[in-house]
Amino acid sequence: MLNIDTFPRRALAHLPTPIEFAERLTSHLGGPEIWIKRDDCTGLSTGGNKARKLEFLMGEALDQGFTAVATHGATQSNHARQTAAAAAKLGLKCHLLLENRTGYVDADYQSNGNVLLDQLHGAQVTHCDPAADMNAALAEHIASVGMTDSTYLIPGGGSNATGALGYVNAAHEIVAQSEARSLSFTHVVHATGSAGTQAGLVAGFKNANGSSPVLGVGVRAPREVQEANVYRLAQATAAKLGNADLVERGDVRANCGFIGEGYGLPAVSTVEAMRLAAEYEGILLDPVYSGKGMAGLIGMIRSGDLTKDHRVLFVHTGGSVALFGYAHRLDIPIPRAAE
Ligand SMILES: *Cc1c(COP(=O)(O)O)cnc(C)c1O
Repeated sequence: MLNIDTFPRRALAHLPTPIEFAERLTSHLGGPEIWIKRDDCTGLSTGGNKARKLEFLMGEALDQGFTAVATHGATQSNHARQTAAAAAKLGLKCHLLLENRTGYVDADYQSNGNVLLDQLHGAQVTHCDPAADMNAALAEHIASVGMTDSTYLIPGGGSNATGALGYVNAAHEIVAQSEARSLSFTHVVHATGSAGTQAGLVAGFKNANGSSPVLGVGVRAPREVQEANVYRLAQATAAKLGNADLVERGDVRANCGFIGEGYGLPAVSTVEAMRLAAEYEGILLDPVYSGKGMAGLIGMIRSGDLTKDHRVLFVHTGGSVALFGYAHRLDIPIPRAAE
């Protein structure tokens, strides 16, 4: 197994995160055993999946002598919030370019939730309209404030091969935890967006034991686009690990049937999944990512694709801070889960 100890890294996340059996949700849904990898508990500014990526991104930024970082995301970006927190902890300046991808203009969406925390962490926040290439828009913005030389640019979602190392590490962690408890998972399900989480997991499982259990649930792009993005990044991640042939196209699978009307717009199935997790497990999902990931898992149980013959690990990627930016969007009439 190739190891990742040689890459620059700074400790930011509480690791390893626990794996817990979701006993009441499992029995309510009547399908496979559902276990949850609690990456919502990574600790950094409440937690979430970006903490793992930022360990490697910030390691690289500091080792290369940068004094500031900049990144972009949707207005209620969890990635922006965790980047602001990591920068604060490591003494770096932080610029955030937040794109209004949903069209929501209410006060909660614009300034509560993640945006409130961005500001509390001392980040400089600029709001903007969506651009075709947000990585390019970010570079232009940083140039316009004269900070190009001192600023390490982090792509959206922290999703490049460096950031994906955080999820190579997570896959190694899951394999070690599973072996220690004699558990094996037929599927590892999670929300996939900017692709770094899935790319890292796919490369990490292949690297650890040759397995290929990962199933992404898309939150934005159609399936062909999402799988192509994940595959490209998984290959780049594998190349960074020194084995460009590690990942095959067939290792990358995404179900993009639970997006609803678009990125950041909760569907009825999203809110139902959030309510089930909250009422049966005391677990907070979010309306943009983990709620759609869980809606996918529930949908695949109901359609018979996942059955009692399977055992699923749901990677809870975090996001509950966004609830406070979506307070008025969750009032969708769905019967209470317990009725
Ligand atoms: C960013 C994010 C994801 C998606 O991860 P990607 O690496 O962008 O695919 C999932 N869940 C939450 C809560 C996130 O913030």
